[in-house]
Amino acid sequence: MRKIHHFVGGQNQIGTSGRVHNVFDPSSGLVQAEVDLASLDEVNEVVTVAQEAALLWKESSLTQRTQIMFTFREILSARANELAKIVSKEHGKVISDAFGEVSRGIENVEFACGIGQHLKGEINEQVSAGIEVYSLRQPLGVVAGITPFNFPAMVPCWMFATAIASGNTFICKPSERDPSASMLIAEWFKEAGLPDGVFNVLNGDKVAVDGLIDHPGISAISFVGSTPIARYVYERGTQAGKRVQALGGAKNHMLVLPDADIEMAADAAVSAAYGSAGERCMAISAVVAVGSAADEIVEAIASRIPNVKIGPGDAPDSEMGPLITAEHRDKVAAYVTRARDAGAVVVADGADRDLPEAGFFYGPTLLDQVTRDMECYRDEIFGPVLSVVRVATFQEAIALINSNPYGNGTAIFTRDGGAARKFQHEVEVGMVGINVPIPVPVAYHSFGGWKASLFGDAHMYGPEGVRFFTRAKVVTARWPDPGTSSVDLGFPRN
Ligand code: NAD
Repeated sequence: MRKIHHFVGGQNQIGTSGRVHNVFDPSSGLVQAEVDLASLDEVNEVVTVAQEAALLWKESSLTQRTQIMFTFREILSARANELAKIVSKEHGKVISDAFGEVSRGIENVEFACGIGQHLKGEINEQVSAGIEVYSLRQPLGVVAGITPFNFPAMVPCWMFATAIASGNTFICKPSERDPSASMLIAEWFKEAGLPDGVFNVLNGDKVAVDGLIDHPGISAISFVGSTPIARYVYERGTQAGKRVQALGGAKNHMLVLPDADIEMAADAAVSAAYGSAGERCMAISAVVAVGSAADEIVEAIASRIPNVKIGPGDAPDSEMGPLITAEHRDKVAAYVTRARDAGAVVVADGADRDLPEAGFFYGPTLLDQVTRDMECYRDEIFGPVLSVVRVATFQEAIALINSNPYGNGTAIFTRDGGAARKFQHEVEVGMVGINVPIPVPVAYHSFGGWKASLFGDAHMYGPEGVRFFTRAKVVTARWPDPGTSSVDLGFPRN
């Protein structure tokens, strides 16, 4: 059995708690590895290592950090396939999807390569006679990232790239369900020249998470996961005096107006609802169809479902892989059964598909005539289940979306620029797509939902990520005229 340990101080460290977690291959249903689960003693140990490394790392030059990030970026790009394969093997998503995840992660590393630009402060000359005022941004010290199972490579990149480039040391606590991507990233970062102790991986469960939140040596917690845990991490972390950003779950609506390009909208709905078996925080799980768009979009989506190729993540022609665990697959199936009982019209049931016998597969499912009081509409199912809610007017559609407790992503499909402008202006959601179903912002913007999809002030990565992982200092300075100087004809070096 493959063993997955921790990565502390630049090396693999075997766990000492005696507790382990099974890592499945969701495509075969078999256990493929065991990951160590950290104890509180191990939390303390990794924080001490990261604290010692932070003393040196905060004094590293921007040139050094930039060069390491560039080298790391080259390694990641050259080995993106290798990383995608391990993501696919532990998560179950198909290789092309895993490669897409890795590519988006690399974009965060590329953003961090420009850290000198991002950390620039501001200055006012001569605020009073001979006096300047200028602002700086400095690292926080040791910071931690706690990540979900569904993007085991990309979500850590959202956090550590800016955190480390900004001069912090980082402890990553990946999901215990697919921890290998973080371990590989740690090794490659070391190979890129990152000093030991700057990037650490602590594998674990609630014990590790609580230990990191409570530890006084950690200045900030970046979390991505489900809403109940995000709320808990935010409340406990801020009570402990830490800076916390905690991104939670979602119920993402796709609004389809009667004037939309229905073929385009249906392609988008199928891709965004069933890609990664619906296990994306930006997956579309509800289509809100206005008036005559409803029959057309339901028919167009239904006609595409039989063509979605379901199979093991590493099979070349698979488009949709399995769910993460058998329990989760059964939970998704139970949602569909209860939706039927509640009166939803099951246009396509994933259970009826010819699915691989082994593994945690469930096929694409389409529910029509779903109402807002139904559980299948209210809950984040996190599986390949798309609900269609029919409404009479555009205004009713916006009101429905705005009354939802989540506010992560949303999209409108229309040819009407005025309608799109109104939607973008009025909708209470953090990330909006106009004829774009999964509007994940590029790395030089920031990612974050509203309402129950994000607890805290700062969005993730991009400019807000840099602000989250640094604190401001403002200096007011007056200098006497220079008394000494010397001549040096060499070209200035860093
Ligand atoms: P999860 O909340 O179960 O786990 C996330 C992390 O929290 C993991 O590292 C896990 O070990 C830890 N954790 C789990 N239970 C805990 C507890 N009781 N106390 C302390 N820590 C705990 O989430 P998941 O199932 O791994 O991921 C799927 C969820 O993440 C979905 O809800 C999805 O929408 C959400 N998600 C959100 C975003 C976003 O950007 N908003 C992105 C990806 C995933």
